[in-house]
Amino acid sequence: MAEEKRITPMAQDFSAWYIDVIKNADLMDYAPVRGCMIFKPAGYAIWEAIQRGLDSRFKATGHENAYFPMLIPESFFNKEKEHVEGFAPELPWVTEAAGEKLEERLALRPTSETIVGWAFQKWIQSWRDLPVLVNQWANVFRWEKRTLPFLRTSEFLWQEGHTAHADEKEAREETIRMLNVYVDFVQNEMALPVWEGQKTPSEKFAGAIDTYSIEAMMKDGKAVQAGTSHYMGTKFAQAFNIQYLDKDQTLKFVHTTSWGASTRLIGCLVMAHGDDKGLRLPPKIAPVQLVMIPVGPAKLREKVLARFDPLFQQIKAAGIRVKADAREEYSPGWKYNEYELRGVPLRLEIGPRDIDNNVVIIVRRDTGEKITASQDGLIDIINNLLTDIQQNMYNQALQFRQDHSFEATTLAELTDILDKQFGFVLGGWCGSGACEEEVKKATKATARNKPFGAPKQMPTCITCGQPSVATVWYARGY
Ligand SMILES: [Zn+2]
Repeated sequence: MAEEKRITPMAQDFSAWYIDVIKNADLMDYAPVRGCMIFKPAGYAIWEAIQRGLDSRFKATGHENAYFPMLIPESFFNKEKEHVEGFAPELPWVTEAAGEKLEERLALRPTSETIVGWAFQKWIQSWRDLPVLVNQWANVFRWEKRTLPFLRTSEFLWQEGHTAHADEKEAREETIRMLNVYVDFVQNEMALPVWEGQKTPSEKFAGAIDTYSIEAMMKDGKAVQAGTSHYMGTKFAQAFNIQYLDKDQTLKFVHTTSWGASTRLIGCLVMAHGDDKGLRLPPKIAPVQLVMIPVGPAKLREKVLARFDPLFQQIKAAGIRVKADAREEYSPGWKYNEYELRGVPLRLEIGPRDIDNNVVIIVRRDTGEKITASQDGLIDIINNLLTDIQQNMYNQALQFRQDHSFEATTLAELTDILDKQFGFVLGGWCGSGACEEEVKKATKATARNKPFGAPKQMPTCITCGQPSVATVWYARGY
């Protein structure tokens, strides 16, 4: 019999727990180049589920997919000063090809505003050409010194939306519309509550006028920026000369936006929903929603399979993502453990006595609850359970976030909370970058965002005590 896999308890060592979960759930493998990673089929299937959920929402809001080249000429980066300063330190370069040194170095894209800007300049001449609403699914590179699978890697997969609009109002509406698309997806499909809000100037995207983010809380109280949306003003339009002839016959610069979410979301799912038995996947994202396992003595196997197989077909035909594991070389106990590690929301067991009683045994991954269910009306029972698990996982994550949300009025208070209780801390901010820097130095926490609908307005800056211009969530982040 195969050996049972073990996971370091979360409370003992969160980082070791995380690596144990992703390895035992078979999501990834390490790559020969440090900082890169291999997405194994179980991990890539989660990414495909994320892609489906986001892509359908992008299309429903009028966007089309396109693809831009991965190699970007060095000169493109020099056109937008803040952009190059922000990204230059982490760019990998292609300097030679076919045995010859290139005349101009080519960067492996860290993001595509520059090359998209170059293309938009060709596509856009008149007000009739606007808006342009495209998205691309791609890989990007940002050379990282300290890496963590899914959450911080030198190459990652993502989508980046790029849009061009006639004026500021329309572009700002787009920026918030897409932020809300991320909120809708992450809350409703990933079962994770998020804080949406605006980044402070020091945390915004290199080259943006305004950056907005959604921030999710992990089970160690740290934050993950789960999606971002940027209003660029006319900065990239000016850098790449993207102008259009307006109805009034004058040339005007377009206003652009960009927005992205990445394979970080997989790390986010693991850290926000996982437990000491492994991964827990919300049913809407789970590549396998229900696993069926036949049980009972070998001599009654045929009797069991005679009912098992038609039940599997029936569940599959109902559109439930079901997997049958009737392998004889693994014991039922080993399989229970295996699918718990992999986060499958429901397990269905059926043995000879269950067949006599016209029932099956269903076990929930989220609560461990064991249910004896009639084989009649089984599809409804399964669907109701999946709906309930989805809601329960959201409620659990929301409860966890409430239990680990605090407020502080001084830096000493903030430090004390972060050291003793971990979580998000609401505090005031005077608008000074120096005050933010001081928080970072003292606590390693950053201002995550200025949340829309903050639970409370904090009147004074946590650092200097001056009147605040905004209330922010402070937290340590990934
Ligand atoms: Zn201050």
